[in-house]
Amino acid sequence: MADTTTLVPYDEALAKYEPVLGIETHIELGTKTKMFCGCATEFGAEPNTQVCPVCLGLPGSLPVTNRSAIEGIIKIGLALNCTIVEWCRFARKNYFYPDMPKDFQISQYDEPLCVDGYLEVEVEGETYRIEIERVHMEEDTGKSLHVGGATGRIHGADFSLVDYNRAGIPLVEIVTKPIVATGDKAPLVARAYATELRELVRAVGVSDVRMEQGSMRCDVNVSLMPKGASEWGTRTETKNVNSLRSVERAVRFEIERQAGVLDAGGKVIQETRHFQEATGTTTSGRSKEEAQDYRYFPEPDLVPMAPSREWVEQLRASLPELPAARRRRVQGEWGVADKELQDIVNAGALDLIEETVREGAEPAAARKWWMNELSRRATEQGVDLASLPVTPADVARVGALVAEGSINDKLARQVFDGVLAGEGTPDEVVEKRGLKVVSDEGQLGSVIDEVIAANPDIADKVRGGKVAAAGALVGAVMKATRGQADAGRARELIIEKLTS
Ligand code: ZN
Ligand code: MN
Repeated sequence: MADTTTLVPYDEALAKYEPVLGIETHIELGTKTKMFCGCATEFGAEPNTQVCPVCLGLPGSLPVTNRSAIEGIIKIGLALNCTIVEWCRFARKNYFYPDMPKDFQISQYDEPLCVDGYLEVEVEGETYRIEIERVHMEEDTGKSLHVGGATGRIHGADFSLVDYNRAGIPLVEIVTKPIVATGDKAPLVARAYATELRELVRAVGVSDVRMEQGSMRCDVNVSLMPKGASEWGTRTETKNVNSLRSVERAVRFEIERQAGVLDAGGKVIQETRHFQEATGTTTSGRSKEEAQDYRYFPEPDLVPMAPSREWVEQLRASLPELPAARRRRVQGEWGVADKELQDIVNAGALDLIEETVREGAEPAAARKWWMNELSRRATEQGVDLASLPVTPADVARVGALVAEGSINDKLARQVFDGVLAGEGTPDEVVEKRGLKVVSDEGQLGSVIDEVIAANPDIADKVRGGKVAAAGALVGAVMKATRGQADAGRARELIIEKLTS
């Protein structure tokens, strides 16, 4: 069905309406086996090779809860400042979908395992506390593949295939409370939340949280209410938004679209919508089910969960340093401003810089190389910083070579060229390319003499007291040595020769 809504420009929409958000995030845990059976969970395996009677829902098969999945969700709950309940149950969520072989999903309903948490996120220097309503345990569905159509959707496809390898993989669902009072920052807050949540879960170490592979998926609820109104508007739910940028864009688009509907005197329909990556728009999906449509009831094949307090405290004690605490610590150790730290985090450089410092580099040098030189190259090549073929140890070694004066910054860039081109370690590249600073004073002195002789006018200016003119001579020395001179030392020598 074509959408005929006229969008309202973002600023105009925000001048009139107040957005309310809600974000539901599904995270696949990285357990070795599935939630209720012993099948493997490896990503990308041959279709339907990681299945058994339990995850295929064959009659007579019985599920058994995966303890390490429960450990994983409790850790996430604790990291999100949730209360871990003393007793809860699984529930059956009944619906038909071809990629769900049992025709129900084992999930949790009115008795989730983790409740009432929060996660703080920062947007443009302001802190927003996102309240977490619940974190519950469930299982993933299989995957349908629609073949023959232009869009990959079922409409227009010639046939569909289904792969049950994913069916039954442990899935944690994290549901926020309504996120209010974010105003025109709503899209950024949504993105910051998804970013922080991903960092948090990654730090806890229970999932690889790769949005592009679907191990983290966000559903974004958006509604608008006229400014000053007390009653919330009708919300839409944009499903399976699979990148951080898309989270931001989906919220922004829904604000513009819903404002268009409301401005035209229409009503927002409560429905699920699909985010269209190519256009940055959302399109209508199905009208949204209510909880009663799912005919939830307690799962009769599983015993309730009653995690002991000792176990919960053990898990709490096992949590690693969490991202917010880590950022505060690192910021103190490195003495960087908020903005710079944010840039480092956004560039995915925090781990790399920390590792480089552990390898013996000065924090400032480690930051400089990763954030300037190497970030630029990663951007040029369209890859993540972490996937450049250069290690923190390499960067630390380059830093050390510069610090001891064997090479200068300019040569260091050439060393990185070599390392990135696979020519070996920094030392090997220095050796092979002959990239040593000309530090032999005699050799440098004779180059300077030549340069002075070749540039008598400039030399006279320096002699006459215009020391700034020495820069041109330093440049000529650097050129003559193909960048291998120590520029600072060359400058000292030039001025010494011309003014003493
Ligand atoms: Zn199985
Ligand atoms: Mn769910």
